[in-house]
Amino acid sequence: MNITLRPEIEAIGEEIIENRRHLHQHPELGLQEHNTAKFISEKLNELGLGISTGVGQTGVVALLKGGDGPCIGLRADMDGLPIQETGDVPYKSINDGVMHACGHDGHMAMLLGAAKVICGMRDQLKGTVKFIFQPAEEGRGGARFMIEDGVLGDPDVDEIYGIHLWNYQEFGTVGVQSGPVLAAADEFTITVKGKGGHGAVPHQTVDAVVVSGHLITALQTIVSRNTNPLESGVVTIGQIEGGYNFNIIADKVVLKGTARAYSEANRQMIKQRLRETCDGIGASFAAEIVLDYVDAYPPTVNSAVQSDKVSAAAGRVVGCGVQPPYMTMGGEDMAYYLQKVPGCFFFVGSAPMDREPMSVPHHCSHFDIEEQALLVGSSVWVQLVDDLLLN
Ligand SMILES: [Zn+2]
Ligand SMILES: [Zn+2]
Repeated sequence: MNITLRPEIEAIGEEIIENRRHLHQHPELGLQEHNTAKFISEKLNELGLGISTGVGQTGVVALLKGGDGPCIGLRADMDGLPIQETGDVPYKSINDGVMHACGHDGHMAMLLGAAKVICGMRDQLKGTVKFIFQPAEEGRGGARFMIEDGVLGDPDVDEIYGIHLWNYQEFGTVGVQSGPVLAAADEFTITVKGKGGHGAVPHQTVDAVVVSGHLITALQTIVSRNTNPLESGVVTIGQIEGGYNFNIIADKVVLKGTARAYSEANRQMIKQRLRETCDGIGASFAAEIVLDYVDAYPPTVNSAVQSDKVSAAAGRVVGCGVQPPYMTMGGEDMAYYLQKVPGCFFFVGSAPMDREPMSVPHHCSHFDIEEQALLVGSSVWVQLVDDLLLN
C-alpha cells in the first residue's frame, strides 16, 4: 500500500474524523436531516461560503466562485438508516433506531474537509465548485428533489462527482470505472386473483397459490433465458403472502419483488417480460394477475472522460490502488444527476483494517469504517479540484 495524502488534508485529519464521529452519533432519517443540515451549514459558514439551505427539503448547497471556468459539483449524501446500532464504538448513535450504517456520515465529513482545503485555493480557482449535501439517498430519492429545486443550475453544473465509502474494498483502494457502476433498482407488486373454495373441492376454484407457484418459476426465466448472458440482471421475489388455512383454497396471493439491471434497455426488457409472463400465466390458469411496477432509481452510469479524471486524481493519492470497483446491483440516486450532467461516482475502499474482510457490510447494525479512508477520500476530492480547476 502506497498512500500519499494531500498534506493539507493530513493537517486537518483529526478534524475530519471528529466531524464524522459527530455525524455518526447524531444520525437522521431521509428528509429529516435538520440537525445534520444545521451542522453542515455552520461548518460551511465558518469557511465564508455562500450557502443555500432547504434545497430538496433538507439539503445544503455551498458555492465557491472562482474564474469563468467550468462549474464542478461535488456531492455527499446525508441520511442514516432505520437500524438500531449494535456495534461497540465510542461514537455510537444516540438516536434510537437510527444509524449511519451506509457511510453517509463519512461522505459528509470528507466533503467538509475538502471544502475547507479547497477554500484555501480560492484565489487560484479557474472555475466554480458547488458543494452538494443531499438528503434522503436511502430510498426516497433526495437527488430528484434537489434537481427539482435547481441544484444543477445557476450556475449550471458542468461535471458532477460523488464518492461512496466501500467496505467491500480494502483500505488503500479506489474503485473507478466508466459505464454502469450501480443498477436500476425497481420495485414491483404482483396480485394474483383466483377463486377460493374448499380444499377438497379444487375443481370449482382457481387456486391462487398454484398459479403463484407457476408464476414464480416462470419469472426465473427472465434472467436465465431472456437476458443476454453477457449482461447482468436480477429478478427477486422477496415476499409472498396469501391464503387462510390448510383446508382453504386461496383466492388471492400478493408477491413483492425487485428488478435490477445495469442498462435502460435491459431494465425495459425485464419490465416487459414481467408483464407478459403475468398475463400469460394468468390466461393459462384463468386467474387475473395484476402487476404494479414502480420505476425507482435508474442505473448509475459514469462518463468515460470524467472517470478518467477521477482515475488520474485517485492515482496521485493511492497509486496502483486504483482499480475497477467491487460491483453490486445496489442502486444509488446519484444516477439522477448523471442522467443530466456527465460525471463519475466512485468508491473509496474503507474495510476496517483491524477486522475480518467483509465482516462489516453496509446496512448491517455493526457497520463501521476504516476512518483513515476519510483522508483518502478527502485527498481525492482536493486532488480532483486541483487537476480540474488549477491547471
Ligand atoms: Zn445504503
Ligand atoms: Zn449509501
